[in-house]
Amino acid sequence: TADISTISEKTLSSILEKNRTYSTQGKVADYIPELGKMDAKAIAFSVVDQNGKVFNTGDVHKKFTMQSISKIIALMVAVRERGEADVFAKMGYFGSEKPFNHFSNLETTGKPLNPMMNAGAIYTTSLISGAGEQAFIKVLDMVRYITKNQNIDYSKSVYESEKSTGHRNRGMFYLMKNNGLISGNEDQLDNYFKQCSIELTAEDLAKIGYFFAHQCVRFDGDSKYKSAEVAKLIESQMLTAGMYEFSGEYSRMVGLPSKSGVGGGIAVSVPGKMGIGVFSPALDQHGNSLAGYHMILDLVKQYNLSIF
Ligand code: GLU
Repeated sequence: TADISTISEKTLSSILEKNRTYSTQGKVADYIPELGKMDAKAIAFSVVDQNGKVFNTGDVHKKFTMQSISKIIALMVAVRERGEADVFAKMGYFGSEKPFNHFSNLETTGKPLNPMMNAGAIYTTSLISGAGEQAFIKVLDMVRYITKNQNIDYSKSVYESEKSTGHRNRGMFYLMKNNGLISGNEDQLDNYFKQCSIELTAEDLAKIGYFFAHQCVRFDGDSKYKSAEVAKLIESQMLTAGMYEFSGEYSRMVGLPSKSGVGGGIAVSVPGKMGIGVFSPALDQHGNSLAGYHMILDLVKQYNLSIF
């Protein structure tokens, strides 16, 4: 296997070209009507190396919504504010073997399985303090900080689309309210829809991957939020539940903490080393970017990046 210091834009573009065809085999998410409008052929691949240097290839300026990738940021914000024990007092650390929007455990123990599936993620966002959209603003600010990109904002049209069609998420929200987990009003659910609608690029995702790979130190070395414990928590959630019900098989095939979203992005942490960001909106049956998965797999094989 090759040394990671030899990674270049050329490495990335040859992996991208090899896997471009997968973007014609997957399917763009359309259960949120606005997402159905995405260009299925768009594809981008980014790496932030050990020294914080950025390598990009493909449709590098193409923006897409974070969707479920926002869940790791909301978890970080909630844990920094309330402490891990409090956040997990009524939520599990279970791995995901059910689809992201499954009601698992809300009708039995009453506790969401983990903060990566929708129920636990909606709950986690509801734990962040502040009236109205304050909790969302905290998540947005953290994304802007980690990526050092103040231009990042959310897509109003995707947000409206999720809000008007997210009845299943609304159902989970009210079931958790019934169970006494959630005390606020629907603003808290709106904050979840807004965080899912944050738009960024593959490069931004690579910077998020880098951040958690480096104990919450930013790619430029800024260590304002440095915490080995927070990074361990987030990476363990990514590993066990970050790729929906594919997480177990993915950890065998790739072996890296990763978080995908139905917008077609995947953020990957190579612990102590680098961050990877991929984008291709055509998804597999689990909701993971198909070409994205194959690009990650090839990079991992070429540079022997699995943590195992
Ligand atoms: N906003 C999406 C939903 O709640 C996020 C799902 C995802 O990316 O997995 O359905």
